[in-house]
Amino acid sequence: MNKMNIAIDGPAGAGKSTVARIVATKLGYVYVDTGAMYRAVTWKALSSGLTPDQSEPIAAMAQSMRLVLQPGHNGQVVLADGQDVTEMIRSPQVTANVSQVSQIPAVRERLVKMQKELAQAKGVVMDGRDIGTQVLPDAEVKVYLTASLRERAMRRFDEMKTKHPDLTIEQAEQDLAERDRKDQEREVSPLRQANDAILLDTTGMGIEQVAERILEISQASAGKGA
Ligand code: C5P
Repeated sequence: MNKMNIAIDGPAGAGKSTVARIVATKLGYVYVDTGAMYRAVTWKALSSGLTPDQSEPIAAMAQSMRLVLQPGHNGQVVLADGQDVTEMIRSPQVTANVSQVSQIPAVRERLVKMQKELAQAKGVVMDGRDIGTQVLPDAEVKVYLTASLRERAMRRFDEMKTKHPDLTIEQAEQDLAERDRKDQEREVSPLRQANDAILLDTTGMGIEQVAERILEISQASAGKGA
């Protein structure tokens, strides 16, 4: 089977990265978590004392920053200027600021260029917000993954409750809705379903079931000679 590129987009907390990782493992493909790249830039900006509205210094920093994604035992390891930031980029502080940082055009330009390069040899499963529309418009498979806000918030709450015992489902719901609003309303590459993407509403579906569905879609696409 010829290698393909698989683009998975959708709102926050839809299970994109878990599903993308399973699909990549089953196909022997490389998984690229583009959200982790925006998170790494945000982490670096905040830890350099910048606020997310300081577009110019953040853009300059993003240009010179060395960003490496590499496969690790528990998924993808993220290195920012040589430092392992895999855990830190998941902090509530980074999560609360990442949508503002990812609106900066020069930040997107740098990261989109890297993402296109990573997918050049094909055999990549990439998840994000603008993969099907901007990064890989020619991807053989495009899926737009979503689920009800309530279900996404419950999943997020379950993931976070041990590390962040103060989080409530209502707060998780509010945080996701706010991040989606910013991602959908931004001027550059807003979150939206590509015209040729398959919509998959995963409300009530298990993660393995969603991965199976994407594998079926991929096989069907390969069968068409895509
Ligand atoms: O996927 P994740 O939730 O980790 O993404 C974090 C944030 O990074 C998103 O809310 C969005 O602001 C930004 N992002 C983006 N474009 C992508 C991937 C993520 O703007 N392709």
